[in-house]
Amino acid sequence: MPVINSIANSFDEMAEWRQHIHSNPELGFECHETAKFVVERLKEFGIDDISEGWAKTGVVAVIKGKGEGGTIGLRADMDALPMPEMTGLEYASTNEGKMHACGHDGHTTMLLGAAKYLAETRNFSGRVVLMFQPAEEGGGGAEVMCEEGVIEKYGISQVFAIHNMPELPVGEFQTRAGPVMASVDDFEIEIFGKGGHAARPHFSVDPIVAATAMVQSLHTIVSRNIDPIECGVISVTQIHAGTAYNVIPETAKIMGTIRSFEPAVKAVMQKRLVEVMENIAAAYETRAELTYHDGYPATVNNAEKAAFAVKVAASIVGEDKVSDQAARRMGAEDFSFMLNKVPGAYVFVGNGDSAALHHQSYNFNDEAAPVGASYLARIVEAAQPV
Ligand SMILES: [Zn+2]
Ligand SMILES: [Zn+2]
Repeated sequence: MPVINSIANSFDEMAEWRQHIHSNPELGFECHETAKFVVERLKEFGIDDISEGWAKTGVVAVIKGKGEGGTIGLRADMDALPMPEMTGLEYASTNEGKMHACGHDGHTTMLLGAAKYLAETRNFSGRVVLMFQPAEEGGGGAEVMCEEGVIEKYGISQVFAIHNMPELPVGEFQTRAGPVMASVDDFEIEIFGKGGHAARPHFSVDPIVAATAMVQSLHTIVSRNIDPIECGVISVTQIHAGTAYNVIPETAKIMGTIRSFEPAVKAVMQKRLVEVMENIAAAYETRAELTYHDGYPATVNNAEKAAFAVKVAASIVGEDKVSDQAARRMGAEDFSFMLNKVPGAYVFVGNGDSAALHHQSYNFNDEAAPVGASYLARIVEAAQPV
């Protein structure tokens, strides 16, 4: 069973939608025009149960199938990135400094393609809830929609989402059971010393010395405190201090990120972060304050749903084109908030030979849209057969 015929026939139309969205990227929670475009298309498909304003600009739509049955959720993200586009495409971004460099234009298009087909055929029981979310690239649009009760309001019992993957050939899928994307937190440490003349350091307390010692020690946490079989990342990515070559500054700041797949690993890194910070600060007669921000949790696929996703993907592209051993990635994804509420699976679909995600030359491959749309449609038909 290859790509669904009627979806394949919608290729030109889907490419048009995708390129329109690509030309008009919006950031964060401000996906106003994209949401409007989505709602217009959904209405064209004859979908009338549409609810707007989720997480400010998110759109939720319901398609009823034939007869009683469960409620399945499909989610796509709509937001772009704050970066200049360098693709040179005819339909490149017309909003300066904003770019669809993660392919969310393609994800929105795939879900629209699936919606059109599902609204026409209704070859499933129960209901499918389509969730078009803003603010995946920071802000946690999916988290906000969960807090607003989208899962409970519609009685969604399982959720599925898709992300394109450069280098994976078009027409191939990858996923895995368990954690597939990491949890991502960020931290900021402010070190308080005592400023003064650089020629007389003994009258100062130098926060730069404490900061550099701290950076060295923080990078030993993963190598010395985490089980080598487990995965974790601590990266110090910013260090700020000083204004002149002959002044010892009063304060210094270091910032970074902490990533892991398992809450237990994260807990060890957090605990050691505090211990290293406090003790190094004390050793250098400074004082340090930590600001810690829990970001997206790990994206954890339910084993049974991941196996189901593999089966459905294989029914479209063939077993040899689907892997259930996707490499885990240290990036994050806010679909994790939905997966923490109900079981489901997150899969990667091939974007072919393209620039990397978040690169200024990246472009979503329109050839991938019918593949992803067919997958999403078949997920619904297979999960809730008539
Ligand atoms: Zn991204
Ligand atoms: Zn993305």
